[in-house]
Amino acid sequence: MSHVLAAVAWPYANGPRHIGHVSGFGVPSDVFSRYMRMAGHDVLMVSGTDEHGTPIQVQADNEGVSPRELADRYNRIIVEDLHGLGLSYDLFTRTTTGNHYAVVQEIFETMYRNGYIVPRVTMGAISPSTGRTLPDRYIEGTCPICGYDSARGDQCDNCGNQLDPIDLVNPRSKINGETPKFVETEHFFLDLPAFAEALAKWLDTREGWRPNVLRFSRNLLDDLQPRAITRDLEWGVPIPLEGWRDRSDKRIYVWFDAVIGYLSASIEWARRSGDPEAWRKWWSADGEGKDALGYYFMGKDNIVFHSVIWPALLLGYSGAGDRDGQPGNLGPLNLPTEVVSSEFLTMEGRKFSSSRRVVIYVRDFLERYDADALRYFIAVAGPESNDTDFTWAEFLRRNNDELVAGWGNLVNRSISMAAKNFGGIPPIDAAGLTEADEALLAVARAGFATVGDLIGKHRQKQAIGEAMRVVAEANRYLSDQAPWKLKGDEEKPRMGTILHVALQVVSDANTLLTPFLPHSAQKIHELLGGTGVHAPMPSIVEVEDLDGGPSYPVLTGDYSVGARWESVPIEAGRPLAAPKPVFRKLDPSIVDEELARLSG
Ligand SMILES: [Zn+2]
Repeated sequence: MSHVLAAVAWPYANGPRHIGHVSGFGVPSDVFSRYMRMAGHDVLMVSGTDEHGTPIQVQADNEGVSPRELADRYNRIIVEDLHGLGLSYDLFTRTTTGNHYAVVQEIFETMYRNGYIVPRVTMGAISPSTGRTLPDRYIEGTCPICGYDSARGDQCDNCGNQLDPIDLVNPRSKINGETPKFVETEHFFLDLPAFAEALAKWLDTREGWRPNVLRFSRNLLDDLQPRAITRDLEWGVPIPLEGWRDRSDKRIYVWFDAVIGYLSASIEWARRSGDPEAWRKWWSADGEGKDALGYYFMGKDNIVFHSVIWPALLLGYSGAGDRDGQPGNLGPLNLPTEVVSSEFLTMEGRKFSSSRRVVIYVRDFLERYDADALRYFIAVAGPESNDTDFTWAEFLRRNNDELVAGWGNLVNRSISMAAKNFGGIPPIDAAGLTEADEALLAVARAGFATVGDLIGKHRQKQAIGEAMRVVAEANRYLSDQAPWKLKGDEEKPRMGTILHVALQVVSDANTLLTPFLPHSAQKIHELLGGTGVHAPMPSIVEVEDLDGGPSYPVLTGDYSVGARWESVPIEAGRPLAAPKPVFRKLDPSIVDEELARLSG
């Protein structure tokens, strides 16, 4: 048994989630966490909404609301989106809590004291007519990298590169169009080169990473530069240093505070659990957490933050970079075990784009289809290690041909036949099991090692393929044995044995598929006459801010209950009722309907 941290990338709170957002790491991190819990590990799965930074400030300005109001709105919507998919967070919180501010400031102060955060004079923009500082979001110009003519002072929305206002070609003030004047100003920089050696040593010890992620991470070390971690902005975590704390025009950069969320959310979870120190079991490098495992899930555009920047912060905080130093109040902290990065999902051959309506939001999807239908698609055809295209035709095919005709059909016909002919789970007859019976049972039992091992290695596509292979074998067994032909009194006991074997394999396959399809797994557990929780679900709970701020919704749950990762013998004699279909067959007309919605 290990302590396993599942650290899931933080969605930015500027809109609802679309299925591209949840395909790469949202659902896969849940599959992993559910499996690890079923296998007996102590999992802590945390994330939250990322709510600071210029884009939220700009969007709030455009809508005439405060950034906090905008963040409140999308925090709530995103919590509902993730809840609808059944993602089993121990805590899904947000970055605007008192707890998060305190943890971010603790990391900043300690790293500053250890010499890893250094002040630097840079060129900042002021308005020539008023003499006042022009925040990054009020400066626009042409991107020096891609030539896009409306790049913002801190980032180009076209090519995604981070910028400085002074890099812009033809910079202009968005307030009055004047050309800003650049004057000397002080900002804080993270001294990344001071971690190059420690990071290289750490990366050299990593095993089992997807090769492209490891290669990409190593290459990043060749060109480490000090990186600005404060901005000219009012919306964010204040800089916790004398003379800076009370300044309203400088804030910690959003990416610096967001990566610290994994730690602050773990601490918040512990404070809410009644044991404020409990987070140490997943984090303390010198204590009870030293053998803990930490898996970080994200899209490939965020690798740098998880394989370079976050480890650098953890090293600096622990006093383990080139300049050494003393760990802060939280003690030395664990580096990630593995950075699990996914590729991108496209939609009908195009990039997801809310503005061009090449999008389907999670909430709209869940209004028309079941969560497990999407979870199944993501597991078998998601962007695990290649960019992947979502098409409605493929979604229809996977749902109807595999989920409904394969798994749904096996569940439905074996339970119906047993209910109709025996009223319950039939016993194995006196003649015992045949070779074919034993062979099928062995295939299902072997699935626990194979499927579990693959999920543990983040090869979920192959894992669900193996689970569905058990389903296919069971369907073939039923066709071969044809129990429906065994009608007379003499043949009925053998019919009972065949159905007993089939139902045992349904029960095993259901357990193998539980991490992927938790909603339907619970239903199938009940159809088999089971009671109680088989696949625990998260709930949305309104909580008070622990440090006096406004209340907010979190996603949390009790996942200590539910099925274990093992074959459980079914009980002969347990009553069964004729089942309703668990999965919905979709009409082919949905393809044209959805394509019409896409093109607007
Ligand atoms: Zn650009």
